[in-house]
Amino acid sequence: MSATTTPKIHRAIVIGSGPAGYTAALYLSRANIPPLVFEGAQPGGQLTITTEVENFPGFPEGIQGPELTDRFREQAKRFGAEIVGRTVSSVDLSTRPFRVVADGEDYLAHALVIATGSSARWLGLPEEEQFHGKGLSACATCDGFFFRGQEIAVVGGGDTALEEAIFLTNFAAKVTVVHRRDELRGSKIMADRALQHPKIAFAWNSTVKRMVGGENGLLQKLVLTDTKGGPDDELAVTGCFIAIGHIPNAGFLAGQLPTDAQGYLITKPDVTATGVEGVWACGDVQDHVYRQAITAAGSGCMAAIECERWLGEHGL
Ligand code: NDP
Repeated sequence: MSATTTPKIHRAIVIGSGPAGYTAALYLSRANIPPLVFEGAQPGGQLTITTEVENFPGFPEGIQGPELTDRFREQAKRFGAEIVGRTVSSVDLSTRPFRVVADGEDYLAHALVIATGSSARWLGLPEEEQFHGKGLSACATCDGFFFRGQEIAVVGGGDTALEEAIFLTNFAAKVTVVHRRDELRGSKIMADRALQHPKIAFAWNSTVKRMVGGENGLLQKLVLTDTKGGPDDELAVTGCFIAIGHIPNAGFLAGQLPTDAQGYLITKPDVTATGVEGVWACGDVQDHVYRQAITAAGSGCMAAIECERWLGEHGL
C-alpha cells in the first residue's frame, strides 16, 4: 500500500471462515452489507478436516465436511460477500475505523465479526515436533490413509477422538484409544459405536508419557503412564493421532478483547457483542460449551444481525 492511498473503509469485515464466518457473511450480505471475509490459513475451518457430518439439519443422509463448507461459502458469495484467502495477523481496535492487517496489507472497517475458530490442542511432549509427519498427526482425514494395515493409537476420550478412531478403522488393522479416565466424554452414540467396534481397543486410565521412534526415525511405540498409579505400559504403534480438544484462535488480537482463562473470547450474555463496541465474536473462538457446526452457524447469524443493527443505529 503506498503512503498516498488510503484504504477503502469497509462497513464490515469478517475474520475467519467456517460455519460461523460464512453464516455471518451470508446474513450481512443479505442485509445489504456485503462484507470482506478473510478466510485465514485453513479456509472453511475444522469442518474441512472432518469426514461425514451427520448432525447438520437438512442433510438426513449426512454430508462430507468439505462439501458443507463449500456450500456455506457459495451461499455467502451468491449474495455479495467478498471472500479473500488471506490471513489476518493483527488488528488495532483502539482506532476507528478499526484497522486489520492481513498478509502485510492494511484494511479498515467500521465493524468486525471475529469467527476464527479454534485449533487442535497438542499434548505438549517434547517429541511431538520430532514425530510430526513421522507417525504423529492431529487429523485422521488428512493422514489416515498412510496407516493402511498398521496398528495405531488415538489419544482422547471426546467425540473427536471417537470419530477419528472409527474413521481410522477404514485403514488401520487396530486402533487403540488412549484415554486418561475410565469413562468416555463423547456422546453415547459415538461411544457405543467405538466400544462395539471389533478393530477398536481401549487403554483406559492412560496418558502418553513418551513417544519412541525406531532406527528409521518413525514412531514405533508409546510409553503410557497409568493415571491410577500402576506401572508404565508400552503400546507398539506406528501412528498416533492426538484428539484432546482445541485452543481458540485469538492470539492475533493481542489481548485487545477480554477472554476467559482458556483464551476464549468473552461475549455479553445472550448476544455476541464483545468488550469493544463494534466487534462481535461467534463460533468456536467464543464457544467452549457447544462447539457444533450448527451452533457456530447460529452465532454467526446472531453476530450479523447485531452488527447490522449497530451500523444502522450509528449511521454507518
Ligand atoms: P472434548 O473437549 O470434548 O474432549 C477432549 C478429550 O481429550 C477429553 O476426553 C479429555 O479428557 C481429553 N484430554 C484433554 N486434554 C488432555 C490431555 N492433556 N491429555 C490427555 N487427554 C486429554 O473435545 P473434542 O474435540 O472431542 O470435542 C469438542 C466438541 O465437538 C464437543 O462438544 C464434541 O461433542 C463436538 N464434536 C462432535 C462431533 C459429532 O457430533 N460427530 C465430532 C467431533 C466433535 P477428559 O474427558 O478426562 O476431560
